[in-house]
Amino acid sequence: MGKVAAGVAALAACAVAGVVVGRRVRSRRKWKRVVGVLRELEEACETPVGRLRQVVDAMAVEMHAGLASEGGSKLKMLLTFVDHLPTGSEIGTYYALDLGGTNFRILRVQLGGRRSSILSQDVEQRPIPQHLMTSTSEDLFDFIASTLKQFVEKEENGSEPSSVRARELGFTFSFPVKQLSIHSGILIKWTKGFAIEDMVGKEVVGLLEAALVRSGLDMRVAVLVNDTVGTLALGHYDDADTVAAVIIGTGTNACYLERADAIIKCQGLLITSGCMAVNMEWGNFWSSHLPRTSYDIDLDLESPNPNDQGFEKMISGMYLGDIVRRVILRMSQESDIFGPVSSRLSIPFILQAPLLAAMHEDDSPELKEVDKILKETLEISEVSLKVRKLVVRICDVVTRRAARLAAAGIVGILKKIGRDGSGGVAGGRSRSDSKMRRTVVAIEGGLYTRYMMFREYLHEALHEILGEDVAQHVILKVTEDGSGIGGALLAAANSSSSVDNSSRYEGIKKSKDEKMAMIPSFFNNRSRDLIFDPFFSFDPFRDFPMSNTAFISTRIDWKETPEAHVFKADLPGLKKEEVKVEIEDDRVLQIRGERSVEKEDKNDTWHRVERSSGKFLRRFKLPENAKIDQVKAGMENGVLTVTVPKEEVKKTDAKKTIEISG
Ligand code: ADP
Ligand code: MG
Repeated sequence: MGKVAAGVAALAACAVAGVVVGRRVRSRRKWKRVVGVLRELEEACETPVGRLRQVVDAMAVEMHAGLASEGGSKLKMLLTFVDHLPTGSEIGTYYALDLGGTNFRILRVQLGGRRSSILSQDVEQRPIPQHLMTSTSEDLFDFIASTLKQFVEKEENGSEPSSVRARELGFTFSFPVKQLSIHSGILIKWTKGFAIEDMVGKEVVGLLEAALVRSGLDMRVAVLVNDTVGTLALGHYDDADTVAAVIIGTGTNACYLERADAIIKCQGLLITSGCMAVNMEWGNFWSSHLPRTSYDIDLDLESPNPNDQGFEKMISGMYLGDIVRRVILRMSQESDIFGPVSSRLSIPFILQAPLLAAMHEDDSPELKEVDKILKETLEISEVSLKVRKLVVRICDVVTRRAARLAAAGIVGILKKIGRDGSGGVAGGRSRSDSKMRRTVVAIEGGLYTRYMMFREYLHEALHEILGEDVAQHVILKVTEDGSGIGGALLAAANSSSSVDNSSRYEGIKKSKDEKMAMIPSFFNNRSRDLIFDPFFSFDPFRDFPMSNTAFISTRIDWKETPEAHVFKADLPGLKKEEVKVEIEDDRVLQIRGERSVEKEDKNDTWHRVERSSGKFLRRFKLPENAKIDQVKAGMENGVLTVTVPKEEVKKTDAKKTIEISG
């Protein structure tokens, strides 16, 4: 080799080495960028116990606000009219229809009359054909009714015809419904991918019953409930210490037993049996304390329901995979560690929760499952073990945040009902007895029952937040099929021919129609003059923009004594001169005030003070029998008491004879 040739060879070798080094530097830089994306995600998703406690408090406060007035909170806190749960004495055969997710289920349950003695149950599960989820209500219900009819015919084939009484159905419909009675309600909005426009604002049971008639099936809808209420019913049937139910599946929601007198927005208008299940619709919960990432913001913006269901979008099975997909897409765009950007990564919801779980829980040393899912679902192949580990880490961060937030939500409920060991919140006042009672929360939904890591993170957070002493009294009980069986149990408990009616109303026995009659004005303006409805007609925020905090710090209780209506408001830090009590035209009592000084009530155990100054305004429609010229108001130790004496009213008609105790 000549001199020149040797020089060329040396140069070439240098160039190759340079390329290799350059590639290494570039790839290290790219890896660093990816790690940067991961760190950013980890930080944004952090849920230290302090933050979780803030979420707990926010949940309890929002629950309070949602119970205080219609629209008072993003938590709808819907009445269910379920004021007694199955006791175990129910006998007979009942049907249930569970509609509210990917599948709908039909059940036939035979009850034997002793607690936990479900003699037999038959179930049929069918997917909802995709096109029916966005079609018309008639198409959807005709399909359901004909499936139901086939099921009934199959099940009853050979058995005695049920000529003695009509078949009764519990209809579990797991979308936000404004309940009108225990067996009727109006669809507020769709969630979970359903979008049948003509049904929004319509009464749901009427639509189903019309389809049942069209199909020629003799069946009566005894109850309309939500899946959480069904789960609560089955939970309570099995274990009387059950106080709440939580669903974490495709979507997420919770319900719990609330004291009737704490449901301030319809206080005095409900029967006085003590408790009612409240459907929180907690998927829509929101708080500034929730750890939100840019991926959550994008997911929300691109969803069919932006600004809605914020809690659900961080927690439930429908969304978790999509958050992970978004993170992988971003990493893929920032570097080539996943190879060329796969077009699959731009398909929303392509990565479903079961796949996310399978990757997260892949315990093979080579992470074979991760490799397979990346290949088959996302068309990403040949990634190194290091990159597969990165994917597992993303799954971990997203799932851990979801599970911990769900745990905080559960403790929020416990706090609201005084079962978190802190003395709790009971109708806005703290309790002195903080002795912890055994507390069971029924829980259902595929994300919780089938995703072990999710479940473990949830339990871990629950223990962290509550502390071991308290946590040992709180039991999360999987209540499989609660939404379906619970619907049938509630149909039985509310059946026209229920065997043991004596335990149904804990005191007062009233027919369903009477129960409805007690609260007509809450939903129906026409009969408003029959009923004293102080909380119906006015939204305290409507004319007075202010934060929830300012409103919540104005707790107003109302009670009725034989002689008077008495309003009590806690107004800590307010002077007499800063409060105004007025009677306006049309028998409206108005209480307002303005707190201008910075002051915090440190003794307030349930309310996190975020703003200590502000205005409040509450207005109440006074009843016909109020002596508005004799209203008295007094202020003592920060408590305002307004007394509105009553006139003796002659009781003339059935609706007026209902006594409201307080
Ligand atoms: P739904 O919520 O639709 O009524 P389920 O309670 O059965 O039905 O929950 C189904 C949801 O649970 C799925 O949409 C999915 O998000 C989640 N899921 C189901 N199986 C798994 C699994 N193996 N791992 C993780 N999530 C799962
Ligand atoms: Mg379900």
